[in-house]
Amino acid sequence: MNAGPVSQARHADGRYWDPEIETAPVQKLRQIQEEKLRHIVEHSYANSRFYRRKFDQAGIGPRDIQTIEDLPKLPLTTKEELRESQAKEPMWGDILATPIEQCITVHFTSATTGLPVAMLDTWDDWHNGFVESYARGIYAMGVRPNDMVLPAFAYGPYIGFWSAHVAMERIGCLVMPGGGASTEQRINYMKTYPITVLCCTPSYALFLAEQAQKLGIDLRSEAGIRLTFHTGEPGGAIPSVKHKIEESFGCKSYDIAGLTEIAAWGFECEPQPGGDHIHDDYVLSEVLDLDTGKPVGPGEQGELVLTNLYRHAMPLLRYRTKDIVKIATTPCPCGRTFRRFDGGVVGRLDDMKKVRGVVVYPSKIQECVQGFAEVAEYQVVFSRKEGLDEITVKVETVPHADPAIAQTIEQQLRLTVGIRAEVELLPPDSLPRWDHKARRVKDERTEVPF
Ligand SMILES: [Zn+2]
Repeated sequence: MNAGPVSQARHADGRYWDPEIETAPVQKLRQIQEEKLRHIVEHSYANSRFYRRKFDQAGIGPRDIQTIEDLPKLPLTTKEELRESQAKEPMWGDILATPIEQCITVHFTSATTGLPVAMLDTWDDWHNGFVESYARGIYAMGVRPNDMVLPAFAYGPYIGFWSAHVAMERIGCLVMPGGGASTEQRINYMKTYPITVLCCTPSYALFLAEQAQKLGIDLRSEAGIRLTFHTGEPGGAIPSVKHKIEESFGCKSYDIAGLTEIAAWGFECEPQPGGDHIHDDYVLSEVLDLDTGKPVGPGEQGELVLTNLYRHAMPLLRYRTKDIVKIATTPCPCGRTFRRFDGGVVGRLDDMKKVRGVVVYPSKIQECVQGFAEVAEYQVVFSRKEGLDEITVKVETVPHADPAIAQTIEQQLRLTVGIRAEVELLPPDSLPRWDHKARRVKDERTEVPF
């Protein structure tokens, strides 16, 4: 491997970025977690008025939290609380636990619901926490110093691939800033330069492939992409979407799981056992039953609640991610001892819909619909007719698709998702495309007309 001036990959041994930690016995990981937990709890209580208030209201002090078993004594933190804190005390809220002068980055949540939340980081939070763990995650996928990488991302206020960009520099990759470029320019970059890795949202990867095809360019033979990784949407972990991306680029495709408020907490390793690992030494994870709030065991689904163990500017303790995950029951063939979630994030509580009394996750509909080669883009509309819930899946097909596909998709939705939906076929180029988070779901039952 020609690493040139050897990046920051100081411990990397060709397989692991940080072998000692990544393969540490579970007891050792737990010891690291508890040391960091005690420190971040002390720091939060001493410096964040938000947390001092929450601790006081719960009648506990930082000394009450010594081990993982003590965690349930701590109240949960929600996004609504962060929003409220920043609305009451613009701009950063009383959560801020370091002087603002020590902060070097600000990013915003994408506000799919409500006002955006601003998240700040100190130099240490950003470079030794967020970026370092991101680098370790993509190294586990196989990104190496001799890769040239194209982040196809607008570099706006969203954290998305900002952290990826800096992490790839840290590994020693050559990074092509693809920010202001058009889709056509990005396709040209891939044809012209020896770019081997692409990162963007899964929706945008599919759009890039579609546009290339329209321009008569076969990315499989005319570009040298060997690996893509995705975040920002669940698609990166959905097998049918992943498969479509891999087919279009002739590459392997990986998922990064994360959220602005907490961290890029999860990553898929090279053997791809069907799920994401979590950076156990950077975030402490709990998976709680949706009804009782009690921890669930391996193999059971629950809401992921995370405590960030390294962010000092805006510490978050027991933060409700609203992501639904399932703890894997078997060790990973990659040899990492980090906890793993089967299927990555399998659903979002925010996205969950109830249709005729039954819970439906739109990501399951996506998994089914995008499994068809005839589907170019789609949209799901939930509506109510004469008091009854209806689901319509609008499907934009590729040119010359057989109209009988509508019926086939309807059958498949019934079989795999367990829903009765009407599939409406639309001609090519009739639905919008997305370069950030795709918004493919419309719920007309709750939308109030202006
Ligand atoms: Zn693994």
